[in-house]
Amino acid sequence: MPVLPAEGQLFDIEVPVLIIGAGASGLIAALAAKDAGVDPVVLERDLVPSGSTALSSGMIPACETRIQHEKNVVDSVDIMAADIMHKSRDQADRSIVEAMCRASGPAIDWLVEKHGLELTLVEGFLYPGHSKLRMHAPVSRSGADLMAGLIKAVEACDIDIMTGAHVTDIFADEQNAVKGVRIERPDQSSEVIGCRALILACNGFGGNAEMVRRLIPDMAEALYFGHTGNQGDAISWGQDLGAATKHLGSFQGHGSVCQPHGILMSWALMMEGGVQLNAEGKRFSNEHDGYSEQARRVLQQTGAIAWNIFDDRLRNIVADFEDFRQAENHGAILKADSLSELADIIEVDEAILVETFADIARFAAGDQQDPHGRDFSKHPVLNAPFYAARVTGALFHTQGGLLVDTNARVLDLRSHPLPNLFASGGAACGVSGSEDWGYLSGNGLLSAVSFGRIAGMSAAKL
Ligand SMILES: Cc1cc2nc3c(=O)[nH]c(=O)nc-3n(C[C@H](O)[C@H](O)[C@H](O)COP(=O)(O)OP(=O)(O)OC[C@H]3O[C@@H](n4cnc5c(N)ncnc54)[C@H](O)[C@@H]3O)c2cc1C
Repeated sequence: MPVLPAEGQLFDIEVPVLIIGAGASGLIAALAAKDAGVDPVVLERDLVPSGSTALSSGMIPACETRIQHEKNVVDSVDIMAADIMHKSRDQADRSIVEAMCRASGPAIDWLVEKHGLELTLVEGFLYPGHSKLRMHAPVSRSGADLMAGLIKAVEACDIDIMTGAHVTDIFADEQNAVKGVRIERPDQSSEVIGCRALILACNGFGGNAEMVRRLIPDMAEALYFGHTGNQGDAISWGQDLGAATKHLGSFQGHGSVCQPHGILMSWALMMEGGVQLNAEGKRFSNEHDGYSEQARRVLQQTGAIAWNIFDDRLRNIVADFEDFRQAENHGAILKADSLSELADIIEVDEAILVETFADIARFAAGDQQDPHGRDFSKHPVLNAPFYAARVTGALFHTQGGLLVDTNARVLDLRSHPLPNLFASGGAACGVSGSEDWGYLSGNGLLSAVSFGRIAGMSAAKL
Protein backbone atom coordinates (compact mmCIF):
# COMPACT_ATOMS: atom_id res chain seq x y z
CA MET A 1 0.00 0.00 0.00
CA PRO A 2 2.68 2.53 -0.93
CA VAL A 3 2.50 6.29 -1.33
CA LEU A 4 4.07 7.07 -4.71
CA PRO A 5 5.43 10.36 -6.10
CA ALA A 6 2.76 12.24 -8.05
CA GLU A 7 5.27 13.98 -10.28
CA GLY A 8 4.60 13.14 -13.92
CA GLN A 9 1.58 10.98 -13.08
CA LEU A 10 -1.41 11.58 -15.35
CA PHE A 11 -4.90 10.65 -14.16
CA ASP A 12 -7.79 9.17 -16.14
CA ILE A 13 -10.19 11.61 -14.47
CA GLU A 14 -10.04 14.10 -11.62
CA VAL A 15 -12.74 14.53 -8.97
CA PRO A 16 -12.98 17.15 -6.22
CA VAL A 17 -13.50 14.76 -3.30
CA LEU A 18 -12.49 11.11 -3.34
CA ILE A 19 -13.57 8.83 -0.51
CA ILE A 20 -12.00 5.44 0.18
CA GLY A 21 -14.45 3.02 1.81
CA ALA A 22 -18.22 2.67 1.49
CA GLY A 23 -19.15 1.89 5.10
CA ALA A 24 -21.16 4.30 7.26
CA SER A 25 -18.29 6.74 7.43
CA GLY A 26 -17.63 6.94 3.69
CA LEU A 27 -21.30 7.05 2.67
CA ILE A 28 -22.12 9.75 5.21
CA ALA A 29 -19.07 11.78 4.13
CA ALA A 30 -20.34 11.48 0.55
CA LEU A 31 -23.84 12.68 1.50
CA ALA A 32 -22.34 15.64 3.39
CA ALA A 33 -20.02 16.62 0.51
CA LYS A 34 -22.89 16.39 -1.97
CA ASP A 35 -25.11 18.52 0.29
CA ALA A 36 -22.28 21.07 0.34
CA GLY A 37 -22.46 21.30 -3.44
CA VAL A 38 -19.53 19.08 -4.44
CA ASP A 39 -19.71 15.81 -6.42
CA PRO A 40 -17.77 13.14 -4.48
CA VAL A 41 -16.81 9.66 -5.69
CA VAL A 42 -16.69 6.72 -3.27
CA LEU A 43 -14.25 3.85 -3.95
CA GLU A 44 -15.08 0.48 -2.40
CA ARG A 45 -13.00 -2.69 -2.75
CA ASP A 46 -15.99 -5.03 -2.38
CA LEU A 47 -18.51 -5.65 -5.15
CA VAL A 48 -21.34 -4.93 -2.71
CA PRO A 49 -20.63 -2.34 0.02
CA SER A 50 -21.05 -3.71 3.51
CA GLY A 51 -18.03 -3.07 5.74
CA SER A 52 -18.11 -3.59 9.47
CA THR A 53 -21.12 -1.28 9.43
CA ALA A 54 -23.31 -4.03 7.95
CA LEU A 55 -22.08 -6.48 10.60
CA SER A 56 -22.86 -4.09 13.43
CA SER A 57 -26.01 -3.70 15.49
CA GLY A 58 -26.44 -0.28 13.91
CA MET A 59 -26.59 1.54 17.27
CA ILE A 60 -25.53 5.16 16.86
CA PRO A 61 -25.17 7.22 20.02
CA ALA A 62 -26.27 10.84 19.69
CA CYS A 63 -27.51 13.58 21.98
CA GLU A 64 -30.08 16.37 21.67
CA THR A 65 -31.79 14.65 18.74
CA ARG A 66 -35.38 15.30 17.81
CA ILE A 67 -36.10 11.61 18.43
CA GLN A 68 -34.82 11.93 22.02
CA HIS A 69 -36.81 15.12 22.42
CA GLU A 70 -40.04 13.41 21.35
CA LYS A 71 -39.39 10.74 24.01
CA ASN A 72 -38.67 13.39 26.68
CA VAL A 73 -35.07 12.24 27.09
CA VAL A 74 -33.04 15.09 28.54
CA ASP A 75 -29.49 14.76 27.26
CA SER A 76 -26.76 17.20 26.29
CA VAL A 77 -23.34 17.47 24.69
CA ASP A 78 -21.84 17.92 28.15
CA ILE A 79 -23.51 14.81 29.60
CA MET A 80 -22.61 12.64 26.62
CA ALA A 81 -19.02 13.94 26.50
CA ALA A 82 -18.66 13.28 30.24
CA ASP A 83 -19.79 9.65 29.74
CA ILE A 84 -17.21 9.11 26.98
CA MET A 85 -14.41 10.79 28.93
CA HIS A 86 -15.24 8.77 32.04
CA LYS A 87 -15.15 5.44 30.20
CA SER A 88 -11.82 6.32 28.58
CA ARG A 89 -10.44 7.29 32.01
CA ASP A 90 -9.86 10.77 30.59
CA GLN A 91 -7.46 9.43 27.96
CA ALA A 92 -9.62 10.50 25.00
CA ASP A 93 -8.93 13.90 23.43
CA ARG A 94 -11.58 16.15 24.99
CA SER A 95 -11.81 18.51 22.02
CA ILE A 96 -12.50 15.58 19.66
CA VAL A 97 -15.02 14.06 22.07
CA GLU A 98 -16.89 17.36 22.32
CA ALA A 99 -16.80 17.87 18.55
CA MET A 100 -18.22 14.37 18.01
CA CYS A 101 -20.97 14.84 20.58
CA ARG A 102 -21.86 18.30 19.24
CA ALA A 103 -22.13 16.90 15.72
CA SER A 104 -24.02 13.75 16.73
CA GLY A 105 -27.55 15.18 17.20
CA PRO A 106 -27.60 17.29 14.02
CA ALA A 107 -26.19 14.30 12.07
CA ILE A 108 -29.02 12.00 13.19
CA ASP A 109 -31.70 14.64 12.52
CA TRP A 110 -30.18 15.25 9.07
CA LEU A 111 -30.01 11.54 8.21
CA VAL A 112 -33.61 11.02 9.26
CA GLU A 113 -35.21 14.19 7.95
CA LYS A 114 -33.16 14.97 4.86
CA HIS A 115 -32.02 11.51 3.78
CA GLY A 116 -34.94 9.35 4.88
CA LEU A 117 -33.15 6.95 7.23
CA GLU A 118 -35.51 5.09 9.54
CA LEU A 119 -33.99 5.25 13.01
CA THR A 120 -35.62 4.82 16.41
CA LEU A 121 -34.45 5.33 19.97
CA VAL A 122 -33.35 2.11 21.66
CA GLU A 123 -35.34 1.98 24.89
CA GLY A 124 -35.68 -0.44 27.78
CA PHE A 125 -32.05 -0.57 28.94
CA LEU A 126 -28.90 1.51 29.13
CA TYR A 127 -25.61 0.28 27.69
CA PRO A 128 -22.73 0.23 30.20
CA GLY A 129 -21.43 3.73 30.88
CA HIS A 130 -24.26 5.62 29.16
CA SER A 131 -26.25 7.78 31.57
CA LYS A 132 -29.03 8.53 29.05
CA LEU A 133 -31.04 6.71 26.40
CA ARG A 134 -29.20 7.88 23.28
CA MET A 135 -28.74 4.88 20.98
CA HIS A 136 -30.43 5.45 17.61
CA ALA A 137 -30.80 2.38 15.41
CA PRO A 138 -32.92 0.79 12.68
CA VAL A 139 -35.95 -0.98 14.16
CA SER A 140 -34.27 -4.34 13.51
CA ARG A 141 -31.12 -3.24 15.43
CA SER A 142 -29.23 -4.42 12.37
CA GLY A 143 -26.28 -2.71 10.71
CA ALA A 144 -27.29 -4.32 7.41
CA ASP A 145 -30.47 -2.21 7.51
CA LEU A 146 -28.42 0.88 8.39
CA MET A 147 -26.26 0.22 5.31
CA ALA A 148 -29.34 -0.37 3.16
CA GLY A 149 -30.74 3.01 4.26
CA LEU A 150 -27.44 4.78 3.55
CA ILE A 151 -27.03 3.22 0.10
CA LYS A 152 -30.59 4.20 -0.78
CA ALA A 153 -29.86 7.78 0.31
CA VAL A 154 -26.59 7.90 -1.67
CA GLU A 155 -28.34 6.58 -4.78
CA ALA A 156 -31.15 9.11 -4.37
CA CYS A 157 -28.50 11.86 -4.38
CA ASP A 158 -26.88 10.52 -7.57
CA ILE A 159 -23.55 9.96 -5.84
CA ASP A 160 -21.16 7.61 -7.64
CA ILE A 161 -19.94 4.57 -5.72
CA MET A 162 -17.34 2.58 -7.65
CA THR A 163 -17.46 -0.96 -6.32
CA GLY A 164 -14.82 -3.56 -7.03
CA ALA A 165 -12.39 -0.64 -6.75
CA HIS A 166 -9.56 -1.66 -4.45
CA VAL A 167 -7.31 1.33 -3.78
CA THR A 168 -3.74 0.04 -3.83
CA ASP A 169 -1.61 3.19 -4.04
CA ILE A 170 -1.81 6.88 -3.31
CA PHE A 171 0.06 9.57 -5.28
CA ALA A 172 1.30 12.62 -3.37
CA ASP A 173 3.56 15.58 -4.11
CA GLU A 174 6.59 16.68 -2.11
CA GLN A 175 4.40 18.66 0.33
CA ASN A 176 2.42 15.48 1.01
CA ALA A 177 -0.62 16.81 -0.84
CA VAL A 178 -2.57 13.84 -2.24
CA LYS A 179 -3.02 14.09 -6.01
CA GLY A 180 -4.80 10.84 -6.73
CA VAL A 181 -5.02 7.09 -6.24
CA ARG A 182 -4.60 3.87 -8.16
CA ILE A 183 -7.39 1.31 -8.03
CA GLU A 184 -7.22 -2.34 -8.93
CA ARG A 185 -10.29 -3.94 -10.52
CA PRO A 186 -11.40 -7.56 -9.97
CA ASP A 187 -9.99 -8.45 -13.45
CA GLN A 188 -6.54 -7.16 -12.28
CA SER A 189 -6.75 -4.08 -14.51
CA SER A 190 -5.95 -0.76 -12.88
CA GLU A 191 -7.11 2.84 -13.17
CA VAL A 192 -5.77 6.10 -11.76
CA ILE A 193 -8.10 8.78 -10.43
CA GLY A 194 -7.03 12.30 -9.50
CA CYS A 195 -8.54 14.24 -6.62
CA ARG A 196 -8.39 17.60 -4.87
CA ALA A 197 -9.13 16.12 -1.42
CA LEU A 198 -9.06 12.57 -0.09
CA ILE A 199 -11.12 11.12 2.76
CA LEU A 200 -9.87 7.88 4.32
CA ALA A 201 -13.00 6.01 5.42
CA CYS A 202 -11.53 2.52 5.10
CA ASN A 203 -11.65 1.65 8.83
CA GLY A 204 -8.81 0.19 10.91
CA PHE A 205 -6.63 -2.93 10.82
CA GLY A 206 -8.78 -5.61 12.49
CA GLY A 207 -8.68 -7.74 9.32
CA ASN A 208 -4.88 -7.64 9.11
CA ALA A 209 -3.58 -10.53 11.24
CA GLU A 210 0.05 -9.34 11.05
CA MET A 211 -0.82 -5.85 12.31
CA VAL A 212 -3.05 -7.24 15.08
CA ARG A 213 -0.22 -9.57 16.18
CA ARG A 214 2.22 -6.64 16.26
CA LEU A 215 0.00 -4.00 17.81
CA ILE A 216 -2.49 -5.98 19.97
CA PRO A 217 -0.55 -9.22 20.57
CA ASP A 218 -2.88 -10.76 23.15
CA MET A 219 -5.81 -10.59 20.71
CA ALA A 220 -3.83 -12.23 17.88
CA GLU A 221 -5.55 -15.59 18.36
CA ALA A 222 -9.01 -14.14 19.07
CA LEU A 223 -11.89 -14.45 16.65
CA TYR A 224 -12.06 -11.33 14.43
CA PHE A 225 -15.71 -10.44 14.05
CA GLY A 226 -15.42 -7.39 11.79
CA HIS A 227 -15.03 -6.89 8.04
CA THR A 228 -11.97 -8.69 6.65
CA GLY A 229 -11.38 -6.01 4.01
CA ASN A 230 -10.25 -3.61 6.74
CA GLN A 231 -6.51 -4.13 6.37
CA GLY A 232 -5.08 -0.99 7.99
CA ASP A 233 -4.49 0.78 4.66
CA ALA A 234 -5.39 4.20 6.09
CA ILE A 235 -2.73 3.84 8.76
CA SER A 236 -0.05 2.67 6.29
CA TRP A 237 -0.75 5.52 3.84
CA GLY A 238 -1.09 8.08 6.63
CA GLN A 239 2.21 7.10 8.19
CA ASP A 240 3.94 7.27 4.79
CA LEU A 241 2.55 10.79 4.39
CA GLY A 242 3.96 11.84 7.77
CA ALA A 243 0.71 11.58 9.74
CA ALA A 244 0.64 11.00 13.48
CA THR A 245 -1.12 7.94 14.89
CA LYS A 246 -2.33 7.24 18.41
CA HIS A 247 -3.67 4.46 20.62
CA LEU A 248 -2.93 1.73 18.08
CA GLY A 249 -3.32 -0.88 20.84
CA SER A 250 -6.91 0.19 21.50
CA PHE A 251 -9.85 -1.86 20.26
CA GLN A 252 -13.47 -2.76 20.73
CA GLY A 253 -13.77 -6.29 21.94
CA HIS A 254 -16.95 -8.17 22.80
CA GLY A 255 -17.32 -10.88 25.41
CA SER A 256 -20.52 -12.37 24.05
CA VAL A 257 -20.27 -14.08 20.67
CA CYS A 258 -22.11 -17.41 20.57
CA GLN A 259 -19.71 -20.27 20.16
CA PRO A 260 -19.51 -22.06 17.75
CA HIS A 261 -22.41 -20.29 16.01
CA GLY A 262 -20.62 -16.95 15.62
CA ILE A 263 -23.70 -14.86 16.47
CA LEU A 264 -23.53 -11.75 18.64
CA MET A 265 -25.61 -11.87 21.80
CA SER A 266 -26.70 -8.48 23.11
CA TRP A 267 -25.08 -7.19 26.28
CA ALA A 268 -28.51 -5.90 27.31
CA LEU A 269 -28.93 -9.36 28.87
CA MET A 270 -26.08 -8.64 31.28
CA MET A 271 -27.08 -5.03 31.96
CA GLU A 272 -30.59 -6.08 32.98
CA GLY A 273 -29.67 -8.96 35.30
CA GLY A 274 -27.96 -11.77 33.38
CA VAL A 275 -24.62 -13.21 34.47
CA GLN A 276 -21.61 -14.83 32.86
CA LEU A 277 -20.27 -18.05 34.34
CA ASN A 278 -17.08 -19.85 33.41
CA ALA A 279 -16.67 -23.56 32.72
CA GLU A 280 -16.37 -24.12 36.49
CA GLY A 281 -19.83 -22.55 37.08
CA LYS A 282 -18.43 -19.40 38.73
CA ARG A 283 -18.68 -15.71 37.95
CA PHE A 284 -15.30 -14.19 37.14
CA SER A 285 -15.90 -10.45 36.60
CA ASN A 286 -18.17 -7.45 36.94
CA GLU A 287 -20.25 -7.85 33.77
CA HIS A 288 -21.35 -4.22 34.06
CA ASP A 289 -17.87 -2.82 33.40
CA GLY A 290 -18.56 -3.20 29.68
CA TYR A 291 -18.62 -5.77 26.92
CA SER A 292 -15.41 -4.57 25.29
CA GLU A 293 -13.05 -5.42 28.16
CA GLN A 294 -15.05 -8.61 28.70
CA ALA A 295 -13.55 -10.15 25.54
CA ARG A 296 -10.12 -10.52 27.14
CA ARG A 297 -11.66 -11.75 30.41
CA VAL A 298 -13.65 -14.48 28.66
CA LEU A 299 -10.63 -15.52 26.62
CA GLN A 300 -8.70 -16.00 29.89
CA GLN A 301 -11.25 -18.58 31.17
CA THR A 302 -10.94 -22.35 30.71
CA GLY A 303 -11.48 -23.17 27.04
CA ALA A 304 -11.72 -19.41 26.28
CA ILE A 305 -15.49 -19.62 26.79
CA ALA A 306 -18.18 -18.43 29.18
CA TRP A 307 -21.90 -19.13 29.59
CA ASN A 308 -24.43 -16.30 29.38
CA ILE A 309 -27.17 -17.16 31.84
CA PHE A 310 -30.57 -15.42 31.74
CA ASP A 311 -34.29 -16.02 32.24
CA ASP A 312 -37.66 -15.31 30.58
CA ARG A 313 -37.81 -11.69 31.77
CA LEU A 314 -34.48 -10.97 30.07
CA ARG A 315 -35.32 -13.02 27.01
CA ASN A 316 -38.33 -10.75 26.43
CA ILE A 317 -36.11 -7.64 26.50
CA VAL A 318 -33.93 -8.83 23.59
CA ALA A 319 -36.50 -10.94 21.74
CA ASP A 320 -36.84 -8.26 19.02
CA PHE A 321 -33.13 -8.17 18.23
CA GLU A 322 -32.32 -9.76 14.89
CA ASP A 323 -29.13 -11.31 16.36
CA PHE A 324 -31.06 -12.89 19.21
CA ARG A 325 -33.65 -14.37 16.86
CA GLN A 326 -30.85 -15.85 14.79
CA ALA A 327 -29.19 -17.28 17.89
CA GLU A 328 -32.45 -18.96 18.86
CA ASN A 329 -33.03 -20.28 15.35
CA HIS A 330 -29.53 -21.75 15.24
CA GLY A 331 -29.95 -23.55 18.55
CA ALA A 332 -27.40 -21.40 20.39
CA ILE A 333 -29.74 -20.92 23.35
CA LEU A 334 -30.39 -23.86 25.65
CA LYS A 335 -33.30 -23.99 28.11
CA ALA A 336 -33.20 -25.47 31.63
CA ASP A 337 -36.23 -25.81 33.90
CA SER A 338 -34.17 -25.99 37.07
CA LEU A 339 -30.69 -25.32 38.44
CA SER A 340 -30.05 -29.02 38.30
CA GLU A 341 -30.85 -29.10 34.55
CA LEU A 342 -28.74 -25.99 34.02
CA ALA A 343 -25.80 -27.69 35.73
CA ASP A 344 -26.20 -30.64 33.34
CA ILE A 345 -26.36 -28.40 30.27
CA ILE A 346 -23.29 -26.35 31.10
CA GLU A 347 -21.54 -29.41 32.51
CA VAL A 348 -20.65 -28.08 35.96
CA ASP A 349 -20.96 -29.46 39.45
CA GLU A 350 -24.52 -28.70 40.64
CA ALA A 351 -23.31 -27.81 44.15
CA ILE A 352 -21.02 -25.10 42.74
CA LEU A 353 -23.86 -23.68 40.62
CA VAL A 354 -26.20 -23.62 43.63
CA GLU A 355 -23.53 -21.74 45.60
CA THR A 356 -23.03 -19.23 42.73
CA PHE A 357 -26.78 -18.51 42.64
CA ALA A 358 -26.94 -18.26 46.45
CA ASP A 359 -24.12 -15.69 46.34
CA ILE A 360 -26.00 -13.64 43.74
CA ALA A 361 -29.15 -13.73 45.90
CA ARG A 362 -27.11 -12.43 48.87
CA PHE A 363 -25.61 -9.63 46.71
CA ALA A 364 -29.11 -8.67 45.49
CA ALA A 365 -30.50 -8.62 49.03
CA GLY A 366 -27.62 -6.45 50.19
CA ASP A 367 -26.41 -9.12 52.66
CA GLN A 368 -23.03 -9.36 51.02
CA GLN A 369 -20.96 -7.37 48.51
CA ASP A 370 -20.04 -8.83 45.15
CA PRO A 371 -16.23 -9.26 45.23
CA HIS A 372 -16.20 -8.21 41.54
CA GLY A 373 -17.98 -4.97 42.43
CA ARG A 374 -21.31 -5.39 40.59
CA ASP A 375 -24.47 -3.88 42.07
CA PHE A 376 -27.16 -6.60 41.93
CA SER A 377 -29.79 -4.61 43.83
CA LYS A 378 -31.35 -2.95 40.76
CA HIS A 379 -32.80 -6.01 39.03
CA PRO A 380 -34.75 -9.12 40.07
CA VAL A 381 -32.69 -12.27 40.61
CA LEU A 382 -32.86 -14.91 37.88
CA ASN A 383 -35.81 -17.31 38.02
CA ALA A 384 -36.39 -20.70 36.37
CA PRO A 385 -36.70 -21.49 33.56
CA PHE A 386 -33.12 -20.50 32.80
CA TYR A 387 -31.40 -20.05 29.45
CA ALA A 388 -27.73 -20.63 28.68
CA ALA A 389 -25.65 -19.59 25.68
CA ARG A 390 -22.00 -20.58 25.24
CA VAL A 391 -19.97 -17.55 24.20
CA THR A 392 -16.41 -16.47 23.53
CA GLY A 393 -14.54 -13.16 23.32
CA ALA A 394 -13.86 -11.52 19.96
CA LEU A 395 -12.09 -8.55 18.40
CA PHE A 396 -14.70 -6.30 16.74
CA HIS A 397 -12.70 -3.37 15.46
CA THR A 398 -9.58 -1.38 16.21
CA GLN A 399 -9.94 2.01 17.88
CA GLY A 400 -6.48 3.50 17.33
CA GLY A 401 -5.73 5.34 14.10
CA LEU A 402 -4.73 8.58 12.41
CA LEU A 403 -4.76 11.69 14.56
CA VAL A 404 -7.29 14.21 13.28
CA ASP A 405 -8.39 17.68 14.33
CA THR A 406 -11.99 18.75 14.93
CA ASN A 407 -12.46 19.25 11.16
CA ALA A 408 -11.41 15.62 10.55
CA ARG A 409 -8.15 16.79 8.94
CA VAL A 410 -5.29 14.35 9.40
CA LEU A 411 -2.47 15.83 11.49
CA ASP A 412 1.25 15.41 11.05
CA LEU A 413 3.76 14.67 13.80
CA ARG A 414 3.85 18.38 14.75
CA SER A 415 0.02 18.51 14.91
CA HIS A 416 -0.27 20.50 11.67
CA PRO A 417 -2.94 19.40 9.19
CA LEU A 418 -1.73 17.61 6.08
CA PRO A 419 -2.69 19.60 2.95
CA ASN A 420 -5.79 17.71 1.78
CA LEU A 421 -6.19 14.50 3.76
CA PHE A 422 -9.18 13.68 6.01
CA ALA A 423 -10.07 10.62 8.07
CA SER A 424 -13.20 9.44 9.85
CA GLY A 425 -14.73 6.31 11.33
CA GLY A 426 -12.31 3.50 12.13
CA ALA A 427 -9.52 5.08 10.08
CA ALA A 428 -9.13 7.88 12.63
CA CYS A 429 -8.03 7.56 16.23
CA GLY A 430 -11.18 6.99 18.27
CA VAL A 431 -12.25 8.31 21.65
CA SER A 432 -11.67 5.14 23.67
CA GLY A 433 -8.21 5.80 25.08
CA SER A 434 -5.37 3.33 24.89
CA GLU A 435 -7.06 0.03 25.81
CA ASP A 436 -10.14 -2.14 25.33
CA TRP A 437 -11.71 -0.90 28.59
CA GLY A 438 -12.04 2.64 27.21
CA TYR A 439 -14.67 1.74 24.62
CA LEU A 440 -18.09 3.19 25.44
CA SER A 441 -20.83 1.41 23.45
CA GLY A 442 -21.33 3.16 20.16
CA ASN A 443 -17.93 4.90 19.98
CA GLY A 444 -17.44 3.13 16.63
CA LEU A 445 -20.47 4.45 14.76
CA LEU A 446 -20.25 7.75 16.63
CA SER A 447 -16.98 8.47 14.85
CA ALA A 448 -18.24 7.07 11.54
CA VAL A 449 -21.40 9.20 11.62
CA SER A 450 -20.33 12.45 13.33
CA PHE A 451 -16.86 12.64 11.82
CA GLY A 452 -17.98 11.14 8.51
CA ARG A 453 -20.28 14.13 8.14
CA ILE A 454 -17.62 16.60 9.32
CA ALA A 455 -15.04 15.07 6.94
CA GLY A 456 -17.44 15.38 4.00
CA MET A 457 -18.25 19.01 4.78
CA SER A 458 -14.59 19.96 5.44
CA ALA A 459 -13.31 18.26 2.30
CA ALA A 460 -16.01 19.92 0.20
CA LYS A 461 -15.11 23.31 1.68
CA LEU A 462 -11.42 22.79 0.94
C1 LIG B 1 -20.37 -7.32 15.14
C2 LIG B 1 -20.14 -5.84 15.31
C3 LIG B 1 -21.12 -5.08 15.94
C4 LIG B 1 -20.94 -3.72 16.10
N1 LIG B 1 -21.95 -2.97 16.62
C5 LIG B 1 -21.79 -1.63 16.74
C6 LIG B 1 -22.85 -0.82 17.19
O1 LIG B 1 -23.98 -1.26 17.41
N2 LIG B 1 -22.60 0.52 17.38
C7 LIG B 1 -21.38 1.06 17.08
O2 LIG B 1 -21.20 2.26 17.28
N3 LIG B 1 -20.38 0.32 16.57
C8 LIG B 1 -20.57 -1.01 16.37
N4 LIG B 1 -19.56 -1.75 15.83
C9 LIG B 1 -18.39 -1.03 15.27
C10 LIG B 1 -18.81 -0.39 13.93
O3 LIG B 1 -19.31 -1.40 13.08
C11 LIG B 1 -17.64 0.32 13.25
O4 LIG B 1 -17.01 1.18 14.17
C12 LIG B 1 -18.14 1.14 12.06
O5 LIG B 1 -18.96 0.35 11.22
C13 LIG B 1 -16.97 1.70 11.27
O6 LIG B 1 -17.46 2.30 10.11
P1 LIG B 1 -16.45 2.65 8.94
O7 LIG B 1 -17.26 3.28 7.86
O8 LIG B 1 -15.29 3.39 9.50
O9 LIG B 1 -15.88 1.24 8.46
P2 LIG B 1 -16.55 0.06 7.61
O10 LIG B 1 -18.01 0.01 7.77
O11 LIG B 1 -15.80 -1.17 7.95
O12 LIG B 1 -16.26 0.47 6.12
C14 LIG B 1 -14.93 0.50 5.61
C15 LIG B 1 -14.98 0.12 4.14
O13 LIG B 1 -13.70 0.40 3.54
C16 LIG B 1 -13.45 -0.59 2.57
N5 LIG B 1 -12.00 -0.60 2.29
C17 LIG B 1 -11.00 -0.92 3.13
N6 LIG B 1 -9.81 -0.79 2.50
C18 LIG B 1 -10.07 -0.38 1.24
C19 LIG B 1 -9.26 -0.08 0.11
N7 LIG B 1 -7.91 -0.16 0.16
N8 LIG B 1 -9.86 0.30 -1.05
C20 LIG B 1 -11.22 0.40 -1.13
N9 LIG B 1 -12.03 0.12 -0.09
C21 LIG B 1 -11.47 -0.26 1.10
C22 LIG B 1 -13.95 -1.87 3.23
O14 LIG B 1 -14.19 -2.87 2.27
C23 LIG B 1 -15.23 -1.36 3.92
O15 LIG B 1 -16.36 -1.53 3.10
C24 LIG B 1 -19.73 -3.11 15.65
C25 LIG B 1 -18.74 -3.87 15.04
C26 LIG B 1 -18.95 -5.23 14.85
C27 LIG B 1 -17.88 -6.02 14.15
